Amino acid sequence: MTILLPLWADYYFAALIFLLGACLGSFANVCIYRMPRGGSVVTPRSHCPHCRQTIAWYDNIPLCSFLGLRARCRHCRGQIAFQYFLVELLLAALFLVIWLKFRFDPRTPIYWLMATALVIGAFIDFEFMILPDRLTIGGMLLGPILSALAPALQGQPSAYLGFCVSVGALVLGSLALWLVATLGTLAFRKEAMGMGDVKLLGALGAFLGWKAVFFIIVGASLSGALVGVMLVLTQHKTMASKIPFGPYLALAALVWIMGGSDWWGAYTAWCSGS
Ligand SMILES: [Zn+2]
Repeated sequence: MTILLPLWADYYFAALIFLLGACLGSFANVCIYRMPRGGSVVTPRSHCPHCRQTIAWYDNIPLCSFLGLRARCRHCRGQIAFQYFLVELLLAALFLVIWLKFRFDPRTPIYWLMATALVIGAFIDFEFMILPDRLTIGGMLLGPILSALAPALQGQPSAYLGFCVSVGALVLGSLALWLVATLGTLAFRKEAMGMGDVKLLGALGAFLGWKAVFFIIVGASLSGALVGVMLVLTQHKTMASKIPFGPYLALAALVWIMGGSDWWGAYTAWCSGS
């Protein structure tokens, strides 16, 4: 579907969507802090981790408050972690690039939802080495439903086909990574990968399809190995250190959404000589 907007409306939409992303980033920060600690992500209101003061709405404005307060709490002057600002900026940017690529496509809101969940999962996994079931199992349930509602997500013409293809990729993604995890555990005689990663790839398959499953396994393994080797070389980690895999799965999934699927199409077209 092509809808042409006048230029002023185009800039206006882009700015609104950047703001929307920043707001979702603010919500993501709450989830990143509370999900691994077992709290509700809706109540109570946010408070300063140093002095427990409730944060007023005007000190909780995405991006602006962090800059305005110069990264310090208004009450106790305690440091506010840069991660809060980073997550807000990251999601604002992701929302904008997804919008610029997909526009009024039915996949746009689904990719926004995925970007939010992936950023939350990546930051939690990075810090706590866990991927909450609320994200992974939630994604495994939601993927097939959204694939039926918007079959374009799976490149299918009907709700029924969208649903079936999604469930197939869910099973494929979980099985493929479960196999890698089991073989890794046998080879290294310790847990090579958590079940959280297996569930996450199942969820990503349910949203993005079977081609994405292969792209994500290869992309996440390559980038994870590259970063791992660099960390060992710079002596931040040893060969025995555990490195979370979730952030690399999330990164590879976002690369797939933003261009990987196009490259795949170009590659298969080149292989078949057309
Ligand atoms: Zn404080």
